[in-house]
Amino acid sequence: MICIPITSGSGRKVLNDIKRSCQIADFIELRMDLIGGENLDELISIVRRQSRTIKIIVTCRRKEEAVPAARAKRTDAVERNKKKKMALLKQAVELNADFIDIELAEGSKAINELKSLCAQMNSRTQFIVSHHNFNKTPSLIELKKIFGQCARFKPAVVKIVTTARTIEDNLVILNLISFARKRSQNIISLCMGGQGVISRMIAPFMGNFLSFATLHKGGQSAPGQFTVQQMNRFKNLISAKRGMSASVLSSCNTPVKNYVLLGNPVGHSLSPLMHNAALKKMGIEENYSVCCVQDIGLAIEGIRGMNIRGASVTIPFKVAVMDYLNEIDRNTLEIGAVNTICNHNGRLKGYNTDWLGFILALKQSMTIKNKTFAIIGAGGTARAAAYGIVKEGGLPIILNRTRSKGRILAKEFNCSFYPLSDAGKIKADCLINTTPVGMFPHIDKSPMNPASLAAFKYVMDVIYNPLRTKLLMDAEKQGCSIISGIEMFVNQGAEQLKLWTGKEPPRTLMKKIILERLNKSE
Ligand code: NAP
Repeated sequence: MICIPITSGSGRKVLNDIKRSCQIADFIELRMDLIGGENLDELISIVRRQSRTIKIIVTCRRKEEAVPAARAKRTDAVERNKKKKMALLKQAVELNADFIDIELAEGSKAINELKSLCAQMNSRTQFIVSHHNFNKTPSLIELKKIFGQCARFKPAVVKIVTTARTIEDNLVILNLISFARKRSQNIISLCMGGQGVISRMIAPFMGNFLSFATLHKGGQSAPGQFTVQQMNRFKNLISAKRGMSASVLSSCNTPVKNYVLLGNPVGHSLSPLMHNAALKKMGIEENYSVCCVQDIGLAIEGIRGMNIRGASVTIPFKVAVMDYLNEIDRNTLEIGAVNTICNHNGRLKGYNTDWLGFILALKQSMTIKNKTFAIIGAGGTARAAAYGIVKEGGLPIILNRTRSKGRILAKEFNCSFYPLSDAGKIKADCLINTTPVGMFPHIDKSPMNPASLAAFKYVMDVIYNPLRTKLLMDAEKQGCSIISGIEMFVNQGAEQLKLWTGKEPPRTLMKKIILERLNKSE
């Protein structure tokens, strides 16, 4: 996310800069120490009139802040400046600015005073507790200590900015970003100065909360800052080199607020067709694209860096992606596979909607409580299915090709395991295929011998392309009731859209669109 600092002094220039920034940035920082004057109220109203979505950060640095607090002379002037700054930050809280930036060096009394005011006024203002070092980049150990001191105030964001004297200083600062992310703390961390530009280029890809960039050359609020255009060029270049299609990730010039499917392969997916039709019907001017991913860790950094609102995750990353997220929903943690990501201002939370989609589909045909379900497969979808069945009071049985994987899953859900080669010996109320066997273009394949299917009253295939897999056709011939993967597909997709937009999606339309496409190809 891009933050443009507003630093100009004169009225008309401030107005023009704010107008332009609101069109291209996610955040605007009102540097009241550089703008001067007492017109915070007016400036906030101007920003709000230009954009309802842009976030406002109010900052007021004192000159003395470059000097470590312990050494700063406690002159009358310093005290006066401090009082002035506090009054301004209090006003920002009263005006509901989205964020205020307060230096750690102001001390806990000042920070707590502002926090109390915020609580008292029920203000929505969040805190950035910051530390700047204008001389050097301290060691990582020292920076971690400073991070701890800032994080103690439980701010929305910790900001630690140092001065790079060597290229290696960039590595220290980038390490600090990983350190903060592992602790689920939003951070803005970078090196100032000519030697520090590398940190400004890489930090967005490591999950830095935002990147500062200026509107014009010469308008920098800190040494080494790029212009918005330069920042966009780097981001696009790095994204393209990593195999992240620039058209998918778009550019920060027009902030991306879209959705993407991460998987490999993804070319066959019907999710874009379904999600884009639904978004259009919901009146949401956003789109859903696909991204063929080589390295899921890098793709996740791209989601953060490019401020993509949400992502679907498919084969083969549903389990691996969990290591790269800030938070995972409780049900999803139990399932152990993520198929949906929501981006909350750079904090990525993982969900699983497969289990809900699966249960909604199954319930349309049968009751689950006290029934037995033989699940073929032990991957992400099998996990979601087993979780849903247990949650609804059913009894799963796992059948899998790789015994070790099948046993692990059965143990987790406290149920029986059988090798897939023994499938002919199993009896259950319902058989569920969660493997890709039989999926387009291998439509003549089935994971089960047709004769064994008579042992099941219901047979469900999670595959939706083709609509009637060989397994389902064989099962029908054996007199079983069949359940196609389309209901699960539509419902898991609808639940994703609900998480991303907070609105109920048009499920009937989504199903119609997919049916039309599949019937055409059949
Ligand atoms: P996954 O995590 O890779 O797991 C695949 C499972 O299938 C593994 O247990 C694997 O067994 C087994 N398998 C693969 N090839 C096999 C073969 N030739 N013979 C026997 N077993 C085989 O994949 P997933 O994410 O669970 O997805 C599985 C399928 O579900 C895909 O076709 C996907 O499109 C579909 N799906 C549909 C929906 C929907 O909404 N309808 C939602 C999610 C997924 P091993 O353990 O032996 O490797």
